[in-house]
Amino acid sequence: MCRFSRALYRDLHPHLLESQIRPELGQRLLLSACERTVERMARDHRRFARPAASLFSDVRALFPVSRQLLVYDIIEARINTALEYLDVEIAERGSADLLRCRASNRKGKACQRVPVTGSDYCPSHRYLEKLQKDRADALAV
Ligand SMILES: [Zn+2]
Repeated sequence: MCRFSRALYRDLHPHLLESQIRPELGQRLLLSACERTVERMARDHRRFARPAASLFSDVRALFPVSRQLLVYDIIEARINTALEYLDVEIAERGSADLLRCRASNRKGKACQRVPVTGSDYCPSHRYLEKLQKDRADALAV
């Protein structure tokens, strides 16, 4: 999921207000707002009404008035892409919580740990990803 917040930040940061006394503060605020929004969507996007509008209202003060419409369009486009991705993931996994490891523990309960970045599994279950990939490769032959 973090690639969505990075993409948001990458597209938005060139439009930040230029005359700020501490530009790095604006960048940090923007990045953390993007991360918070995407994280909340990954947790439970069905109960997160209008994420694009919510992110926009969090960050709009960091942008000049002349760029607000453009900023909103960027946010909306990126959030829609993330929502489409989430819908596909949920359809495949049957779970909305992408910030949780996909594996089950020895008692058969869902693992509660946070996945490694770029993976669906936590550090202790990461080997499952390789197994799954090998199986997919074997089936593809
Ligand atoms: Zn795990």
